[in-house]
Amino acid sequence: RTVYVNGKYVPENEASVSIFDRAFLFADAVYEVTSVLEGKLIDFHGHMTRLERSIRELGINFTVDSDALLAIHRELISKNNITEGLVYLQVSRGAASDRDFMFPASDVEPGLVLFTQAKSLIKSAAADRGLKVASFPDQRWRRCDIKTVQLLYSSLVKNEAAKKGADDAWLVLDGKVTEGSSNNAYIVDENNTIITRELSNDILHGITRKAILQCAAELDLKVEERAFTIAEAQKAKEAFITSASSFVYPVVEIDDVKIGEGTPGPIAKRLREIYIEANLAAAI
Ligand code: PMP
Repeated sequence: RTVYVNGKYVPENEASVSIFDRAFLFADAVYEVTSVLEGKLIDFHGHMTRLERSIRELGINFTVDSDALLAIHRELISKNNITEGLVYLQVSRGAASDRDFMFPASDVEPGLVLFTQAKSLIKSAAADRGLKVASFPDQRWRRCDIKTVQLLYSSLVKNEAAKKGADDAWLVLDGKVTEGSSNNAYIVDENNTIITRELSNDILHGITRKAILQCAAELDLKVEERAFTIAEAQKAKEAFITSASSFVYPVVEIDDVKIGEGTPGPIAKRLREIYIEANLAAAI
């Protein structure tokens, strides 16, 4: 596989970054994951807009040039023959000459790394089967709206969920669900209203979330942006998650309680279909 590191396309086993890179020492980096269908990028500009915001919030000295970054994405897709999968992009504040909590002088070059991952996205066992999720307290820092590589807690709870026989973790803050370990969380009530937490610093502003809420509007489904509890979710008609790499996955069990019949719900299925259709048509 060819990867991109700081201006160069290199074989993955020849790629290297400094051990003083602040991504490595301080998780001082932000990232985006953009999915690829039929060799084309899904919602690329949405991801670049969020990247720009993450960079601005952290004051990283990197100018997002969407055209240049699009060219790198496309070059990697082509070099690695990706028809379906993901492109990972990471921008770090850069490598200082030493380990220092203070940011380095502004002339330090920010780091830019991209790689691809081939993956079947449309055909998906998780989409067919639905996910079991387990809840955990949300002990992340309170700027979850910034897409940083500081993912240790999310990784820990995902592993803890697996130990309990679940596929993923839902995080709970002050009694209410924030989001999944790496996705946004939704329930559907008895009136077919879709409920998902409102945007704030407590969740990532999902690119897929925005698209799915548009899909819901096209299906004339009502949307309520508000927080919900695990107990409310367990009594919901349906539950599901969204992310760039999963699109929409139904959730069929929460903390060992079946949702509805315990099988993927029709609204989650329909949203997945129309999301794929609309976003494939708009892919670049
Ligand atoms: N929340 C978290 C914590 C995530 O890591 C992700 C995936 N990046 C999402 C939500 C979904 O965001 P998106 O739809 O932009 O992939």
